[in-house]
Amino acid sequence: MQKYEKLEKIGEGTYGTVFKAKNRETQEIVALKRVRLDDDDEGVPSSALREICLLKELKHKNIVRLHDILHSEKKLTLVFEYCDQDLKKYFDSCNGEIDPDNVKSFMYQLLRGLAFCHSHNVLHRDLKPQNLLINKNGELKLADFGLARAFGIPVKCYSAEVVTLWYRPPDVLFGAKLYSTSIDMWSAGCIFAELANAGRPLFPGNDVDDQLKRIFKLLGTPTDDTWVGMTELPEYKPYPMYHVNPTWQQVVPKLNSKGRDLLQVSLLICNPGQRLSAEEGMQHGYFSDLNPAVKQG
Ligand code: ADP
Ligand code: MG
Repeated sequence: MQKYEKLEKIGEGTYGTVFKAKNRETQEIVALKRVRLDDDDEGVPSSALREICLLKELKHKNIVRLHDILHSEKKLTLVFEYCDQDLKKYFDSCNGEIDPDNVKSFMYQLLRGLAFCHSHNVLHRDLKPQNLLINKNGELKLADFGLARAFGIPVKCYSAEVVTLWYRPPDVLFGAKLYSTSIDMWSAGCIFAELANAGRPLFPGNDVDDQLKRIFKLLGTPTDDTWVGMTELPEYKPYPMYHVNPTWQQVVPKLNSKGRDLLQVSLLICNPGQRLSAEEGMQHGYFSDLNPAVKQG
């Protein structure tokens, strides 16, 4: 720990506190994340350590780089590449307007980061604007990756703040336990809509019931025909039969028709088996006029 000089606290999230810090030798600025464990006395579970070590090998321009793992008896500190801000703070600073080219660029980078992780069998499971980091030069990076598998899916923040349900897909809200890459694709859809609306969340539910109602009111209530297996999910309960909201265009008014297609036809699909993969999403026509500099990255 003597290697780093703590500068200031930059965030507090689901697993712990994050500090901006400086490497005393190289002067490099990093983000230090001290992970709190449910039972601090027990030390760091070896299963968690194994998972974290795997993350160190996950190197991609759209993933926040994990430089180092500092592990003492009972403490675990992760040393990450430093980014300027997270997407939530970016929303707060953009005054209700994001250039459509930036929306496209961020969405593409989000899908590219996801495609990379998914191809290495790593899921995020807690994607949300706070977990997407942004650099001054418009780069987007996924943070908090793989931690859900190492430490368990978050149900409450260590700071006692409630974990948001806004980005959770209906299958998970109905208690599905077998997570696949499709969980992240739903969250990516919610974030896409929020980007297009310059920071207005798509489904800001108050609890599981309210969350599902908001989803079904917009997308229509799924049936056992459109989603085989839904009624067998552990926490399934029936909802009123809402029909697809015909005013869907008003939901994301600034998104062009190709963008709406990617969102509505490909990502925000209640049946997890029918959601597009990140790799497929990158090939979507919405990105055909993407700035080549972003594509080459
Ligand atoms: P948690 O697992 O506790 O949610 P996060 O990694 O999401 O922790 O970090 C919490 C907050 O700290 C983020 O929302 C972000 O604002 C800030 N943060 C985290 N990592 C970095 C980083 N590498 N660079 C800059 N800020 C970061
Ligand atoms: Mg987080």
